[in-house]
Amino acid sequence: MTSLPFPVERYREDFPILAQQIHGHPLAYLDTGASAQKPRAVIEAMTRFMENDYANIHRGVHELSQRATDKYEAVRSVVQNFIKAEHDDEIVFTHGATDAINLVAQTWGRTFLKAGDEIVITALEHHANIVPWQMLREAFGIDLRVVPITPEGEVRVEDVKAALSPKTKLVAFAHVSNVLGTVLPAKEIVALAHEAGALALVDGCQSISHMPVDVRDMDADFFVFSGHKLYGPTGIGVLYGKREILSRMPPWQGGGDMIASVTFAETTYKEPPHRFEAGTPPITEVIGLGAAIDYVSAIGMNNIAQHEKDILAYATEKLSRVDGMRIVGQAKNKSGIISFIMEQAHPHDIGTILDRHGVAIRAGHHCAQPLMEHLGLVATARASFGLYTSREDIDALVAAVEKVEEIFG
Ligand code: PLP
Repeated sequence: MTSLPFPVERYREDFPILAQQIHGHPLAYLDTGASAQKPRAVIEAMTRFMENDYANIHRGVHELSQRATDKYEAVRSVVQNFIKAEHDDEIVFTHGATDAINLVAQTWGRTFLKAGDEIVITALEHHANIVPWQMLREAFGIDLRVVPITPEGEVRVEDVKAALSPKTKLVAFAHVSNVLGTVLPAKEIVALAHEAGALALVDGCQSISHMPVDVRDMDADFFVFSGHKLYGPTGIGVLYGKREILSRMPPWQGGGDMIASVTFAETTYKEPPHRFEAGTPPITEVIGLGAAIDYVSAIGMNNIAQHEKDILAYATEKLSRVDGMRIVGQAKNKSGIISFIMEQAHPHDIGTILDRHGVAIRAGHHCAQPLMEHLGLVATARASFGLYTSREDIDALVAAVEKVEEIFG
């Protein structure tokens, strides 16, 4: 069966921000890994909600509050279906992936871990999946074990196995590296964690918008992501947790909306997920997240994945031909991220020159300083792709990178 070409030009029209010029050049937005741009469907859904249905949720008897509550709660099922969770009460709305990982550390971690227990992470983690565990280490004396990566930037299953021990309580790892683009063998790592009697937390920040995700097939105990990387708004994220595990976790933050009853003597809590959603949540942002999921679902996650694979292959081939270029991260299974360094120029200089040509990339340590140290680098330049990335964007990137070569070469 031959598939139809991906109509990238048509989808680009859905993103008003992409139509502009930057420093006299058409914008080539290649920083989707940091945050994705927003389609009109998301912007309009949020505006429509605020113009017609907005009120605080759960507590009101009036029509608007009930409408807002229904729309907010309906997004839970949208997320459930999108990641193929079994129940909608396994979806906790958080402020982002960082917030979700901290929630797990501060509730599950503080309840079930003791000195000497081990958490296994990998060498390519984002700070969001390192620091919350280090904070537990400081508080409780748990140990953190780090699975090394290969020179290509891959995480080998046998290295994960070697890091596990009877003391391992959690294996927490990125589904996709935000620096190297490596896709980790999530299902196999989760299975190994379970064999060792540990739970598995998958950081889906860099996978959620690029490939179909099935938490049940993966058998993840926790899966986290941020809405803003999925073409949705900032300030909203998701913690998926298996029902049976969430139900044993105490609340993290206390306040309105998460209680069953309060007296000065005693407070009882709601069941998950509401137990973990203290205070007024980002209501409009939840509506925006729902619209973003509807938007990408209509295009099809498999179609998006295929398109980004084509773009990755095209970009890798073209960039590899530039003098002095080294692509950092050569995993066989990669998602739409290319980190690179050039002999001639510092990544920040590359980023600045590219910006003058309308090409938006990121330069720095990408919130993965231990990985940078492991690679013996202080920074990389990083181009990251999304469903709207076109071959013209890549041509603009390559032309601008060649200018760097001309200036510094
Ligand atoms: N994990 C990974 C792999 C990421 O790429 C990011 C953001 O770049 C995060 C976690 C943190 O996401 P947020 O800052 O939206 O909480």
